[in-house]
Amino acid sequence: MSWSPSSWRQKPIAQDVVYEDKAKLDKILNKLRKLPPLVSPTEIDRLRNQLADVAAGKAFLLQGGDCAELFDDCSQYPIEHKLSLILLMSLIILHGSRLPVVRIMRIAGQYAKPRSKPTEMIDGEEVLSFRGDNVNGYEPTDRNPDPERLLGAYFHSTATLNYIRTLLLSGFANLHKPLDWSFSHVRSPELQKAFSGVIESLQDSLDFMRVATGGDGGTARGGTETVDLYTSHEALLLEYEEALTREFDGRPTPRPTSGTASPVRPTKMVSTPSMASFPGKRSFYNTSSHFIWIGDRTRQLDGAHVEYFRGIANPIGIKVGPTMQPDELVRVLDVVDPDRIPGKVTLIGRYGADKVDQHLPGHIDAVKTTDHVVVWQCDAMVSEITKSSMTDPTLKTRYFADVIQEITKSMEIHKAKGTILGGVHLELTGEVNEDGFSVTECIGGSMELADKDLSFNYRSHCDPRLNYEQSLDVAFLISDHLKA
Ligand code: PEP
Repeated sequence: MSWSPSSWRQKPIAQDVVYEDKAKLDKILNKLRKLPPLVSPTEIDRLRNQLADVAAGKAFLLQGGDCAELFDDCSQYPIEHKLSLILLMSLIILHGSRLPVVRIMRIAGQYAKPRSKPTEMIDGEEVLSFRGDNVNGYEPTDRNPDPERLLGAYFHSTATLNYIRTLLLSGFANLHKPLDWSFSHVRSPELQKAFSGVIESLQDSLDFMRVATGGDGGTARGGTETVDLYTSHEALLLEYEEALTREFDGRPTPRPTSGTASPVRPTKMVSTPSMASFPGKRSFYNTSSHFIWIGDRTRQLDGAHVEYFRGIANPIGIKVGPTMQPDELVRVLDVVDPDRIPGKVTLIGRYGADKVDQHLPGHIDAVKTTDHVVVWQCDAMVSEITKSSMTDPTLKTRYFADVIQEITKSMEIHKAKGTILGGVHLELTGEVNEDGFSVTECIGGSMELADKDLSFNYRSHCDPRLNYEQSLDVAFLISDHLKA
């Protein structure tokens, strides 16, 4: 069957959203089709090239952000906190591993959520489940899907992305001042100490570079002023994704000479072939985000999502859980990666700490029999390890120890199989309350958050996220593992 941005409409679709007002939906989609792309093919191709490095073990992939972004999160301080957390984590990983870190945030579009049940009970009444801000509202009285929210998703993504680009262009990621990345509110003395160690050693290296190049910040411009940063979301609402899928002419793909090119910073480029590099060849790009993924609940081989994903040039993720059969995984890969492009597909394992040893080895063996060069990533934040708080059963929580266990086991399994765990995928947030306290949604970590503390600053409207300190704990763990 030939592919087009709308060919998914001929296939059965899981997690569909049913809109009552079809005329309004069409009007909104027409408007979206005319709005400009949020990201460019050049940036997307560059990310795919960097992911090829991850697949080869020459870089590490850090992907993280909210479980579900809310339109209200599109505000100065929440964006700064999220960005600073990813920057700090990547600095810690880079410091330990000496590998370039490819940073992808779940941001500027992570609004839709798959749900295990279409309805839920609230105060004794059955209402539609909250599907994310681009579908319906969190308030139980606002649960009817409204197409107007798709426009809201576009404009909130645009504003978020614009502020991220502005911050990066204004020196927010400058390696000469990482202490500005709001680390000061971290209360754990061990974390403060560990991070000071990283900063001291970094300062040493930067001083050395300054002396060696005979300059100050101005002449020692060796890529320390900003970093690359990419956006991602689960491409669940295919009407929206289709409207932002655009066709572009083939063009030479700029490939950075170093691993630190920024989508917002001009760098020295060399041309290397890629999907979009052949004159005359036209490729379709999803321009709503650099990277999109298919969820574990929508990855049916014959389904609408796999059909949509097989035609776009973006690097993509596929969530792989315990119900994925090894031969099914190979067939999905054959469909979405027919040209065997290294870095095109990231397999995002989400098994649960207690199931990873049972399923990951079989999936690795199956992929090894093929010529697909994938990135193996561990999503240690899945529902299998979500539990209810004992003090307040209305709050969902996770145990930090389970998160760590799944990452550690994944690394060990890959080592034993001679493959590489190229990255992690985490639901996390740098958000703090007015008094500077991090969110309290997961139990454990160096700050020793207990079940009884959860209600103190529980903010998630969806699943529990690692907070600032717990995320840094994870970064130090990865850094230590990669050092070893
Ligand atoms: C997610 O990453 O937000 C998610 C819902 O994952 P999964 O589809 O694997 O459950």
